[in-house]
Amino acid sequence: MHHKPGFYGDFGGTYMPEVLFAPIQALQQAWTQLKYDAAFKQSLDKALKDYAGRPTALTDVPQFAKAIGASRVLLKREDLLHTGAHKLNNALGQCLLAKRLGKQRIIAETGAGQHGVATAAACARLGLTCVVYMGSEDIRRQAPNVLRMQLMGATVMPVDHGAATLKDAINEALRDWSAHFEESYYCLGSALGPHPYPDMVASFQSVIGTECQTQVQTLLGKNPDYIIACVGGGSNAIGLFSAFINDPKAKLIGVEAGGHGKRLGEHAARFQASTKGVLHGCYTYVLQDAHGQIAPTSSISAGLDYPAVGPQHAELYANHRATYVAIDDKQALEALSLLAKTEGIIAALESAHALAYARVLAPSLMPDQTILINLSGRGDKDLPTLMTQPALTEVLS
Ligand SMILES: *Cc1c(COP(=O)(O)O)cnc(C)c1O
Repeated sequence: MHHKPGFYGDFGGTYMPEVLFAPIQALQQAWTQLKYDAAFKQSLDKALKDYAGRPTALTDVPQFAKAIGASRVLLKREDLLHTGAHKLNNALGQCLLAKRLGKQRIIAETGAGQHGVATAAACARLGLTCVVYMGSEDIRRQAPNVLRMQLMGATVMPVDHGAATLKDAINEALRDWSAHFEESYYCLGSALGPHPYPDMVASFQSVIGTECQTQVQTLLGKNPDYIIACVGGGSNAIGLFSAFINDPKAKLIGVEAGGHGKRLGEHAARFQASTKGVLHGCYTYVLQDAHGQIAPTSSISAGLDYPAVGPQHAELYANHRATYVAIDDKQALEALSLLAKTEGIIAALESAHALAYARVLAPSLMPDQTILINLSGRGDKDLPTLMTQPALTEVLS
């Protein structure tokens, strides 16, 4: 399907302003060389094992399965990774690459703060300077993550314009990169943006799927019937899906944020709106108004609150290899609470969207069918949000 480099079917590409053409091209060359470099892979594997804590567990959750009416549910525990989510797989990979390229200063953007925290950790570990752009609205919502980044030596730069959230932080990070690319490396947090980022990030996150496939064989002796992951930009999902994509019997399901309503602006379900356009260098499905202006989005989980989706998912949607569904804020909260009560695991609000879809799916399953869910992160970062949820009072009672 990949006719042109950097394209996935019709999607992807490098739709960037001319000032960024030189650094993007240099990065494309570097990635082509390092992608299959044995010494690079070895240093990354070592960091993932000794520092990040890989392999992460695969956990059978029988009480949760029983509660939702499924025979068997397995969770891939990216919540157990150092810094609390799958983001560190990518941040370590890109920061090691930056070091190989001789760049001392790392620029990153962050929404919920998880990618910022992972990048700050990787930079501290590798002796690099770290600057993180973050919308002022997100800074307010995610104060503990701001402090985490600062403790690890990162400079957090507030972004005030637009909606003051992730999209605006990416714009600002790209502006910094275009002014300082000689000494700086831009560490992008999901499988989106211009080529080579989607390929690079998916490759760094493929460790989730590769590891999981071996673990699943040990536990089940076959692949699961359903493989479910939440989709913000799409990195944890593509990282898991990649290992199962060639098994036509494995059904791949991506879960987007249904927010609090179906109108434009009330959700971040790009595939439900199903309109295409360019955002941050990449042709894909985007939420936009009738004039092609990027639409505001809404989700209880900051990590899923982004108007575009990575190009690999756009292709999987267009060619029907994967299915994409939406789960709303309330369903996510209920699923988070259910997993916590039945299994003693507090999931991130993003991951709770995937758990909630398993609940929707379970009644239609055959008795012997199994579900694998990527638990992309832990819920500690969401406690400030959870404390202010009126819906949670209902859920907890
Ligand atoms: C950032 C984040 C996501 C969404 O990002 P993807 O690139 O779609 O994986 C999902 N879960 C958690 C816990 C996150 O921190």
